[in-house]
Amino acid sequence: MKNRKLPPGFWEKMEGGYFYHPFQLDLQRIYLEVSSRCNFNCITCIRHSWKESPGDMEVALLEKILEDLECFPQRPVIYFGGFGEPLFHPQIGSMIGLVRERGFRLRITTNGQLLGEELRQLMVEQGVEELIVSCDSTEDSVFQAIRPGGSLEKIRSNLQELFQLKKERQRTYPRVSLEFVLMRRNARELESLPELARQLHAGRILITHLLPYSRELQEDILYDRNFSAPGPLLWASPEIDYAGMAAASLPSFQWGAMRSCPFIERRSASISYRGRVSPCYPLLHPYSYYIFGCHKEVSPSSYGSVRQEDLASIWQNREYIKFRNRVRLFRFPSCVDCDLGPTCDLRAINEDCWGNSPSCADCLWAQNIIRCP
Ligand code: SF4
Ligand code: SF4
Ligand code: SF4
Repeated sequence: MKNRKLPPGFWEKMEGGYFYHPFQLDLQRIYLEVSSRCNFNCITCIRHSWKESPGDMEVALLEKILEDLECFPQRPVIYFGGFGEPLFHPQIGSMIGLVRERGFRLRITTNGQLLGEELRQLMVEQGVEELIVSCDSTEDSVFQAIRPGGSLEKIRSNLQELFQLKKERQRTYPRVSLEFVLMRRNARELESLPELARQLHAGRILITHLLPYSRELQEDILYDRNFSAPGPLLWASPEIDYAGMAAASLPSFQWGAMRSCPFIERRSASISYRGRVSPCYPLLHPYSYYIFGCHKEVSPSSYGSVRQEDLASIWQNREYIKFRNRVRLFRFPSCVDCDLGPTCDLRAINEDCWGNSPSCADCLWAQNIIRCP
């Protein structure tokens, strides 16, 4: 077949024919792991199972990434997030400034504890678009049991001060959202979550499930039981520029046939603090977890490092393009539905019997069971 009229790209032989992959700089969202260290030590944190040490992204590396991003025509939205607390980075103020000076939209996920006066002022002045604050309980005692060292009261006062500042300056940004990890131990708090969101002027709540890294934590998951969710989670969300009703949706509670990767569909990539580029958060680090009673070891999967290559070359790496296409078509078996699942050695190391390594066959993100901002 002649490909004279086709845009630059390459053919891939697949089962049943050939697939043409054009080279496209269509990255739309980039997750930057500014720091994988954290001021909290949550009992639920997957970092407890990591086999590598945490660290901070160098400011020079962020500058390099921002330079690399200039050639992407859709100007990707930047997220400071990943595993770790971005506000724990000693130079977080300069990093926010660098992103905003170049005109990129910036959203930050945080546990909210370190959102002091100086950072609040900086975020309002710089127009950080969204702060996604993780808040796994509406009650201080439960909050402290899940997040030792944390204080719900402190987060509450930080967010209320932020709202006052926005009001004084007549600024709409940063918008505030909450993130809630749903577990057996906090499930009854779903009903009080909208009231907390109202008090904290949050316009959105992202509810997700837990990824258990230990046998004990498996007892806390709610996606393998018959859970009766409360009615619609609605609250009045008075913002600086509007007053309306907001509604939160629940994640899936059952493993199903429909699978779709939110990271790949949103045309996103994730970069670790060391500069490794991965397709998603779940493939950034080595860790282990339990899925419906089966233990799994996940190895990181990267298509290059921005320390050695520019991001455009990595994004257009043929193996990376082929992987994204395989995920879009979701050419992976479903290990959860397989009789061999509990004893399968391939599954245990995150590979599969269709030849995929890494495999997305067990991915809870693709099931909308675990969700990320
Ligand atoms: S706030 Fe997030 S990164 Fe920090 S310990 Fe808790 S779960 Fe882990
Ligand atoms: S890798 Fe294949 S054989 Fe193993 S559990 Fe998954 S579907 Fe079954
Ligand atoms: S399906 Fe899961 S493991 Fe695969 S790319 Fe998406 S988030 Fe990552």
